[in-house]
Amino acid sequence: MSKKITIALAGNPNSGKTTIFNNITGARQKVGNWPGVTVEKKEGAVRHNGYKLTVVDLPGTYSLSPYSIEELVARNFIVDQSPDVVIDVIDAANLERNLYLATQLIEMGVPLVLALNMSDVARSRGYRMDGARLGRMLGVPLVFTVGTRNEGTNDLLRQAIEVAEERSPTRRHIHIGYGREIEEEIHAIQQVLRKQADSGIPYSTRWLSVKLLEGDEEIDRRLRLEEIGGPELEAQTEKSRTHISSLFDEAPEVIISDQRYGFISGALREVLQYPPADRRYLSDQVDTVLTNRFLGLPLFIFLVWAMFQLTFNVGALPMGWIEHGVGWLGEALASRMGEGILRDLLVDGVIGGVGGVIVFLPNIFILFFCIALFEDTGYMARAAFLMDKVMHTLRLHGKSFIPMIMGFGCNAPAIMATRTLESERDRLLTMLINPLVSCSARLPVYILIAGTFFAERAGTVIFSIYLIGIVLAILVGQVLARTLFRGEVAPFVMELPPYRMPTLKGTLIHMWERGSIFIKKMGTVILAGSVIIWFLSSFPAGSRSVDETYLGRTGRAIAPVFEPLGLSWRDSVAILTGFVAKEIVVSTYGVLYQVGDEEGAENESLREALRASGMTPLVAFAIMVFVLTYTPCLATLAAIRRESGSWRWTAFSIGYQTVLAWTLAFSIVQGGRLIGLG
Ligand code: GDP
Ligand code: MG
Repeated sequence: MSKKITIALAGNPNSGKTTIFNNITGARQKVGNWPGVTVEKKEGAVRHNGYKLTVVDLPGTYSLSPYSIEELVARNFIVDQSPDVVIDVIDAANLERNLYLATQLIEMGVPLVLALNMSDVARSRGYRMDGARLGRMLGVPLVFTVGTRNEGTNDLLRQAIEVAEERSPTRRHIHIGYGREIEEEIHAIQQVLRKQADSGIPYSTRWLSVKLLEGDEEIDRRLRLEEIGGPELEAQTEKSRTHISSLFDEAPEVIISDQRYGFISGALREVLQYPPADRRYLSDQVDTVLTNRFLGLPLFIFLVWAMFQLTFNVGALPMGWIEHGVGWLGEALASRMGEGILRDLLVDGVIGGVGGVIVFLPNIFILFFCIALFEDTGYMARAAFLMDKVMHTLRLHGKSFIPMIMGFGCNAPAIMATRTLESERDRLLTMLINPLVSCSARLPVYILIAGTFFAERAGTVIFSIYLIGIVLAILVGQVLARTLFRGEVAPFVMELPPYRMPTLKGTLIHMWERGSIFIKKMGTVILAGSVIIWFLSSFPAGSRSVDETYLGRTGRAIAPVFEPLGLSWRDSVAILTGFVAKEIVVSTYGVLYQVGDEEGAENESLREALRASGMTPLVAFAIMVFVLTYTPCLATLAAIRRESGSWRWTAFSIGYQTVLAWTLAFSIVQGGRLIGLG
């Protein structure tokens, strides 16, 4: 007995579905109506290579939303009848629009084949397309057809049968990425759905979550019918929808559909060459400049440079105010409180340490504001796109660049963001190079040191440190990719979302979401660290100078290691404590120099103290490079441990980075001295 296979033909109206249906089934057709509605239903049966094929011509639709009868009929057939394979007939001359339906079918996870019909028209209009590559990226076999000439029909059937029999080499389930915020909400809804996994949810939970986020009432109704969900799911859906709406100032379904188009344009950009006269959209025209092979990268670097100029120069103003405030508070406390250990703890430990870091709050917020702006306008996705080629030299996909950019903010969440990468190898490699991307916690160190030693050029110097971080990440990545992490890049679509005018509110929310973590850190890790450092630098009781305290002794014990780098014992201690959190380097300097000099220490700013300490600009630069490269902070290490599940890789990242830091600082200082830089 021959095996039965049901094939559903989906596609936009006028894509040539019926023509292909006729090509497959010939004369054997049944025409009727779909149950309950006046939409025409065509069904045909045919024998082919020992299979009994039943072919159903679904109504032509642009999408699979529940808003029109046709779309609902098509979707319900796919969901309820689970055809063995769906053939999506696509008008190859109108790819962007036609692929929208394909993204939804891909998302539903149905067994799928794409028929790129009207390929004669596409060719005559000058489109050139790498179909095999597109198929690999989408994880869906793709066949070029010309319905009117019955071309490609046999190939189409062969691929359809392979997919139905689950032996297609191209078939692979992929995710359409919706960007960080929406992904977070999808995840939250999915978590609620998964709790009910034992009640046997018949559909993909990701697909359901996307649909709920889109506000799909039909899905909601179905879930109720099957008694899935309930108040918790409703509450989460509502919360997620509200969050997205307020963030983007736009309904979630609009944002989601924009992202689908972003997925399509990202995919097409890699496989399709348009005829030169066919750049229809402004977004496309902007992209020809921003993602241009020659202009794109310099422009990206310029924008990042401008960001650090802004961070440093605009931040300097409020920084001065806060500095005064902190200084005033310290003096006020010092003069009102009786002499004693409590006063020292508050003035030198807490105010010296936390206050030393708090002054950088405006800079950090400006940085986060800029990053949020890059993200919200859609530029960040272009940057990832630009870096795709560079990332390929690490045998990584451009997608791995997104955690790298997030690393500018904080490496710990950036390392968590590697979860979105497909392979274990890509995740580990991305994780290990991520801490070289300089996070905002290191910014206070740079601002303090560069501001002290490089005055007007501080913004540019800081930018160069960030650049060094990126270059190092890429170089280390290349070494690792050729030694410990050999492997191939899986083809992957990079979403290229449309440019969006960011809302001030959305950008501020983004800035706050990240900046507030920093404020919390002040009251916890940095406060505790400052107090501990103060304690170590004040005891044992009766120490006549800092040299005799615990901190001083530790400093002198480790000093030989840092001496070749030109560092004093104070610098060594400051760097050592930064292991806990990088801002603590600044706190330590603050505490050390407050305590260091009894007379006049109060009104001498930290910068003046540093300048007087004998540090040269060359050593200052080396310290910044050291702080950039050496061991990740505790929070980042915890993230690496959690995401890699391995103590070995965690230890590896401490080890290689510290060795790298020492070697670089050594080369800078010794090399600089050789050529007479001081
Ligand atoms: P449906 O709405 O998707 O069922 O589309 P039809 O099968 O009715 O086709 C719409 C029109 O496109 C008809 O005039 C077909 O003859 C024509 N057509 C179908 N396939 C092709 C093709 O590959 N190339 C060209 N040039 N025309 C086609
Ligand atoms: Mg038709």
